[in-house]
Parts: sequence; C-alpha cells; structure tokens
Amino acid sequence: MVAIDGPAGAGKSTIARELARKLSLPYLDTGAMYRGITCAVLRKGIDVHDVDAVAQLALSTVLDISDDALVVDGVDATQDIRGEAVTRAVSAVAANSGVRSELRERQRQWVAERGGGVVEGRDIATVVFPDARLKVFLTASPLVRAQRRVAQIGGDVEQIARDIAERDHKDSTRSDSPLRESENALFVDTSDRSIGEVVNEIVGVFHG
Ligand code: C5P
Repeated sequence: MVAIDGPAGAGKSTIARELARKLSLPYLDTGAMYRGITCAVLRKGIDVHDVDAVAQLALSTVLDISDDALVVDGVDATQDIRGEAVTRAVSAVAANSGVRSELRERQRQWVAERGGGVVEGRDIATVVFPDARLKVFLTASPLVRAQRRVAQIGGDVEQIARDIAERDHKDSTRSDSPLRESENALFVDTSDRSIGEVVNEIVGVFHG
C-alpha cells in the first residue's frame, strides 16, 4: 500500500497512476470521490455550506469509480468533476466531517477488497492509511503547479495560481483532516523533475 498526498497540481495523479502500473497495484484517486459528491450536491441544487444536507446526501450517493471514469448515481460525471463549478465548490464539501467519514470508510473498504493499492489525496498518509508501507508527499512550486494546470485545462496562469492558492489554503486550514505532510513521508519536490524520474525514485524506495 502506497499513500500519496500533496497540494493541487503537484503531479499526484500522473505520478500515482504510473507508479501503480509499475508496481502492478490498483490505483485510487480520492480527489475524484470528493469531486463526485460535490457533483451530486450541485446537481441537486443543495447549498455546499448546508452541513447536514450535504452530509446526508454523501451517505446515499453511489460513486462508481474506475481508472478513467466516474459515474455518480448512474450518470457519467467524468467531465463534470473536472469542470470549474465542481473545482470551485469541492473544498467546502471536503471540509464537511460527515462527508469525510463516509468517504474514509469507502476508501478503506476499497483497499481491503483489493489487498492494497496506490491511493492519492490530501489525508491518505496522515489519517486514512497511517500504516501504509510507503508514504509520499509530493509538492512543486506554486508557479510550476499553475503552469501544469494551464497546460492541462487552459486559462490564465495568474488566475489559476490564485485559484490553486485559495483551494490549498482551504484544504490546509480545515479542522477535519487538513492537508499535512505525514511525519515519516518521503518528501519529493517535483518542480524540476520528470515524471519518470520521480516514479523511479519512489519505486526504489518502495523496494528498498
Ligand atoms: O486531488 P483533487 O484536486 O482532485 O482533489 C479535489 C479536492 O478534494 C481537494 O481540493 C480537497 O478539497 C479534496 N480532497 C480531500 N481529501 C482527499 C482528496 C481530495 O479533501 N483525500
């Protein structure tokens, strides 16, 4: 079991996917789960700050997650979860303790059913799987993170940098499971390094 955490745009998804392929382990993107619940909240027109209604909806929302798609309550949401509306609202939904405890349980069950995996998110090493065999914290400079997002989805670098900074601030200052580096995590700054280099380093540490 490998736990990978880090802020937005640090390269987590690309690196975690490639790592999972190399280690022949299943891959779970927990950010997609928080985005899926957010998508359900927006579809129903529920206020993201309505703590009880959001927590209640999370319990009944069916997330069908696979390597390259997410289906929310039977309706494909693969594109929607990457859109602006969900990205803007997701940190508020992710700060909801009811949502977090529900998704935490689903994540633990997912790994238990498969006997392991590469799991990425914000609280994976610190809270969800504190006993993971390997814990990794990925980061990159704010400018590099913004540039990567622009390369993926387009837009203005300065605006995207502000959006990322705001989301990181919300994710690191919430009271339930804030984004933090786990004490014994392998810390990797991906700013000036290729995906291949980072993956090879992590594979080396995993086998070492
Ligand atoms: O990784 P991604 O950018 O898709 O995550 C979207 C959001 O989901 C994060 O900004 C954060 O608010 C939330 N999240 C979380 N805990 C996780 C994974 C994601 O709070 N383990």
